[in-house]
Amino acid sequence: MSDAAAAFDAGRAVPRRALVRRISLVLALALSVSSFSLLAVVLSFDGGLSPLLARFDGAMLRLGLLALTGLMAVAPLVFLGMVWLAVARERRQAEALSLLRDNREALRISRDQLRRVFDSLPVPYVLARLDGRAVQANPQALALFGIDPEKLAGTNVFDLYADPTFSEELKGYLTDNGRIENFEITMNTVFGRKCWVLFSGARVVMDGEPMLFAAFADITERKRIEQALQKNEAALRTIIDASPIPVILTGHASGTVAYVNQAAAKFFGRAIKELVGVPAADYWESPEQYAALLAELNTRGFIDEREARMRRPDGDIRWVQGATTVLRLQEDTLIYTAFSDITERKRKESELHRLATTDPLTGAMNRRAFTERCAVEAGRARRSGYAVSLMICDLDHFKRINDSYGHATGDAVLKVFTGIMQEMIRPSDALGRIGGEEFALLLPGSDAENGAAVAERVRARFAATPIAVANGSFTASASFGVALWAEGQSLEKAFSAADEALYEAKAKGRNRVEIAGRGEIIRIAPTA
Ligand code: GH3
Ligand code: MG
Ligand code: MG
Repeated sequence: MSDAAAAFDAGRAVPRRALVRRISLVLALALSVSSFSLLAVVLSFDGGLSPLLARFDGAMLRLGLLALTGLMAVAPLVFLGMVWLAVARERRQAEALSLLRDNREALRISRDQLRRVFDSLPVPYVLARLDGRAVQANPQALALFGIDPEKLAGTNVFDLYADPTFSEELKGYLTDNGRIENFEITMNTVFGRKCWVLFSGARVVMDGEPMLFAAFADITERKRIEQALQKNEAALRTIIDASPIPVILTGHASGTVAYVNQAAAKFFGRAIKELVGVPAADYWESPEQYAALLAELNTRGFIDEREARMRRPDGDIRWVQGATTVLRLQEDTLIYTAFSDITERKRKESELHRLATTDPLTGAMNRRAFTERCAVEAGRARRSGYAVSLMICDLDHFKRINDSYGHATGDAVLKVFTGIMQEMIRPSDALGRIGGEEFALLLPGSDAENGAAVAERVRARFAATPIAVANGSFTASASFGVALWAEGQSLEKAFSAADEALYEAKAKGRNRVEIAGRGEIIRIAPTA
């Protein structure tokens, strides 16, 4: 117990002592009054003091009597003064004690308030002496470390730090800075397991004594997830590295390549370190293509089995088929793209497609491909409000050419004819070989007259083109029938109309163009 507290408790004895002193005061006053009365009696003795003293024999006795009388009169006064001083001192002491009592009460209230504030803190905290002995802890701290509230006083907070060197480190920090903030440390609990905390501590002075205030945030769960993620990341990297197909990891925010595996390095023909740090868009055929891919990825979260065209650093464009997804790792959001090079497959596919759709001799579409193309082009032209016309042409007396110059020359004539056709038509026009020496041309955006004009130009040019043979050259000709492919009409109907016009051209002497769909077939241009 402190001196102040002892004095405070001793203060309870004051009323009894005051009573004794007050009785002493009354007695002293009475004694003084009676002494003064006696002195007054002596002084008022008839004839003064001398005749009275003269009654006593001997000078010494008289003097003694006089001194005794004086002393009896003065002593009570001196005593009275002393008592008065003692009373005054007592009053001051009582006042001081009352003040101390008030202060102690105020301190108790403020401590209670402080404790309530601490206890209501959402984070665990411990208040300890500088040597680590715990003084106070809130329920959250008791629960976190598994400390029995009864045994708190016997707990040393330094024993809770899993790393003993941290205690020394902590003391150093507190001495240097007075505080330490957000240190990630592991701590022991009485349950025998370790927990991760974010530790903040400060040196505080409580009741004049320096103390250690330590607050903790339990981050065990977060740390566990972080560690699991780290393990996952390591596993993921191993999987990516071992992947036989190329993989690119791109920073979602930066848009630059963060990582590529060995298979990707092989695909791009560069070392891994040369490929990272580059904008990912550089590895795609066009930035627009990559931007569209990203937009789709952001909407759907993943893209599967997509065929796209990538650009290698040497400028070579390759077909790839791949999948892209968003990977959320600890700190980064990455775009994971895995793909395989399908350029060779694409080449074969396109070759197969070409073989399946074109005539190997002339390069014109075969009948099936031409029919399909007609449906597409006609639909497109109709949506745009354009007319569509169809032309059918047949080489004249082709059998004779074969018979006269041989089959190979016949083939050469077919090639010359299609060569002229290809040169003179537009990209949207479609040329098909629909028979041995019979061709069809679809002309979207052309009515029958426009179609016939095209036919006439082809006819004239072909008729004027010499075909070289061993001993000179000859010219050949073709006949043309053109029909408007009326809206709502079937392709077969348009075909037969054009065929009819062709028949008409043949009948009228060949090497000419006829238009179908009129009362009479009109000849467009005079034969050369
Ligand atoms: P017309 O003016 O009435 O059309 O007479 P044409 O001789 O051209 O008609 P026809 O139908 O009697 O003969 C067509 C010939 O075309 C018969 C065939 O041998 C020949 N032919 C068909 N396909 C080919 C080919 O790929 N190459 C060659 N060289 N000849 C072919
Ligand atoms: Mg013919
Ligand atoms: Mg024919």
